[in-house]
Amino acid sequence: MEPVIVIGAGLAGSEAAWQLARRGIPVELREMKPEKMTPAHHSPSFGELVCSNSLRSDQLENAVGLLKEELRRCGSLIMACADAHRVEAGGALAVDREAFAAAITEQIRNHPNITVKEGEVTEIPREGQVIIATGPLTSEPLSQAIGGLFPDSKYLNFFDAAAPLVTFESVDMDSAWFASRYDRGTPDYVNCPLSQEEYEAFWQALTTAQEAEVHGFEDSGVFEGCMPVEVMARRGVDTLRYGPLKPVGLKDPKTGKEPYAVVQLRRDNAQGSIYNIVGFQTHLRWPEQKRVFSMIPALKNAQYVRYGVMHRNTFLDSPRLLDRYYRVRGQERLMFAGQITGVEGYVESTASGCLAAMELARRLSGRDPVNFPRETAIGAMALYISDESVVNFQPMNVNFGLIPQLGYRVKGKRNKNAEISKRALEKLGELDLT
Ligand SMILES: Cc1cc2nc3c(=O)[nH]c(=O)nc-3n(C[C@H](O)[C@H](O)[C@H](O)COP(=O)(O)OP(=O)(O)OC[C@H]3O[C@@H](n4cnc5c(N)ncnc54)[C@H](O)[C@@H]3O)c2cc1C
Repeated sequence: MEPVIVIGAGLAGSEAAWQLARRGIPVELREMKPEKMTPAHHSPSFGELVCSNSLRSDQLENAVGLLKEELRRCGSLIMACADAHRVEAGGALAVDREAFAAAITEQIRNHPNITVKEGEVTEIPREGQVIIATGPLTSEPLSQAIGGLFPDSKYLNFFDAAAPLVTFESVDMDSAWFASRYDRGTPDYVNCPLSQEEYEAFWQALTTAQEAEVHGFEDSGVFEGCMPVEVMARRGVDTLRYGPLKPVGLKDPKTGKEPYAVVQLRRDNAQGSIYNIVGFQTHLRWPEQKRVFSMIPALKNAQYVRYGVMHRNTFLDSPRLLDRYYRVRGQERLMFAGQITGVEGYVESTASGCLAAMELARRLSGRDPVNFPRETAIGAMALYISDESVVNFQPMNVNFGLIPQLGYRVKGKRNKNAEISKRALEKLGELDLT
């Protein structure tokens, strides 16, 4: 059998290659790293996390928690490596990013059905089955080739933001304390309180700080999941206090009260030596980041391992182009997976790679596809991105709004979500996932 060509060994491409290979399908995995790096990738490893080290909630009351559990039940490589290399983060699944990517790379490189071919792909292979999973930072020549596939469709570029990393030893723990919100799970976050006066001064500085030059960036083009903190702040003086600086459920042990605002730091490596500033994706100039963020008392002497940066994000107008298996309508030998399809986030990208590869493996062995129903998170995402009635398509995190309601009343949002997840896992259990 001719190998399936998977382009891009990020989260979606690695998962797709794995799902094909474990079903006996030969794969040629093409990756341009380390010869050429996108502006956000720095490591030669596959499955590199370009920003936060959190794969978000791991609880079934949360849609991304459900998506993770579904992936585990589909034999996901990315989830297995994430579970094996988790670092404590309350109810979230955060990972030691280097150990996580190293494990994915090792599994992929050692699989007998996968051949890795290094080097940038600049054209779409003319024959054979192809999965394109080159992510939000697809290199320019390939972006153009993809654009050429769909001359009549919108093909969008815009910018995205990454949060800064600081060393733990530089955080002033006299002004901060360890806790998780509502004391749920283990106390993993470093909480940095601000009084009303400190918050207002910080907000003033943040909203007027100098931004790095980014051509073509517009506030309206930023999607909520990765919005720069300064853009969010400009929406109103209290917006951050209802967003990433929310103090609710965080009592300062010194006062026994919730502070006016709290900046949270989340562990970024297994050793606990590096922390990221949660929700502080930014495109401020680096000296400005240092000046403004040092107004947070616990960060007054913070040392930055990496400053926040801005990046391009490329995605297709998928509802006009793709079907529920992420295949190009009318050119079914071509498939897309990952963030380039407009699913948003690490876990969502993984899920699309998983589904695309499962369908392709079925097709190549003459079997009917697995039709993930809309009640499952994997199915809901695929049906959303291929829904022709969706206009002004924007990248989308998984959420319970994509999944049909229960049809009966359950008291309390968490209970209701838990019930939706229970139904999803039951439906998944009825599918033949081989
Ligand atoms: C700056 C930034 C911050 C982000 N922060 C977060 C976050 O905190 N949380 C979150 O959930 N999501 C975040 N995202 C979204 C994130 O990119 C996706 O969730 C996820 O990485 C997408 O997975 P993917 O497999 O589609 O692409 P990627 O993981 O980007 O993988 C694509 C791979 O394709 C390779 N490639 C590109 N072009 C070519 C080519 N021409 N030939 C060969 N190989 C090529 C790349 O080198 C890369 O290895 C962020 C994105 C950006 C850009």
